Amino acid sequence: METQKNLRGKTALITGGGSGIGKASALELAARGARVALFDRRVADLRQAKREIVARKGICLTVAGDVASERAIARCMARIRREWGRLDIVFANAGINGVWTRLENLRTSEWDETIRINLRGTFLTVKGALPLLRQRGGSVIITSSVQGTRLFHNSGASPYATSKAAQLAFGRMIALELADHRIRVNTICPGAIRTNLGKNTEVRDVENLHLPIIVPKGAVPLTGGAPGSPEQVARLVAFLASDEASHITGTEVFIDGGESLLLG
Ligand code: NAD
Repeated sequence: METQKNLRGKTALITGGGSGIGKASALELAARGARVALFDRRVADLRQAKREIVARKGICLTVAGDVASERAIARCMARIRREWGRLDIVFANAGINGVWTRLENLRTSEWDETIRINLRGTFLTVKGALPLLRQRGGSVIITSSVQGTRLFHNSGASPYATSKAAQLAFGRMIALELADHRIRVNTICPGAIRTNLGKNTEVRDVENLHLPIIVPKGAVPLTGGAPGSPEQVARLVAFLASDEASHITGTEVFIDGGESLLLG
């Protein structure tokens, strides 16, 4: 079946667009006719993602930078304004797992880095996009997680879970504030998804963190334990971005194969 071009004429910004959920979403939105701007700090990944999108006849621009840098975000918005003059969809998705360790071993700089990228980055992305989004309304999608919203048992992941809980609150707050401008804001909460996120996690000294939890086998009920794919999340993002979701704002959508129902 041919992909429906239901995002034709729209433009989208995707942070963390070089890998995982962001990259899969960029491919999906582009396949549905949107022009996609990818923002990421990894230049090689941006180049590769762009190559794949263009090979499928998509339209793509890339901006390299740190999502927690106000200046980099301003540069990104200026580029989108210059090239396309409009922005309809913002996927605030860049994030890190950061350092997972016992509270007493967590350095302040490690706490700050997770909060800086996951939370400040989300704030800067949405705030920076507002002047363009306000022109004709649009859709903002924020990537939170099951961690910090339904699940609280992941040993040592307190900065990560805290940042993800805060993203949810931020999403609801601004959904109400921006409704007047016909800007919808929704938050997605993925469970385990096969991406590069885990590779960049530093897990330290959690062995002795005795939590009275036994994770059952097959902890993802829909799949018998297997994680979800970035493409499955991308289809949710495409739906929330589209006019099909025109009455949906200020809500969270869990996409976890039922994992958080079993473990939460
Ligand atoms: P990923 O590591 O494959 O992709 C994350 C992307 O964000 C990378 O391309 C990375 O370079 C980019 N990024 C990180 N820090 C950045 C910064 N400071 N500035 C610019 N770009 C930056 O991982 P993913 O799983 O696709 O992660 C995307 C989002 O999904 C994250 O917010 C993550 O917390 C969330 N999430 C992932 C899972 C999962 O199981 N994979 C589950 C729940 C939530």
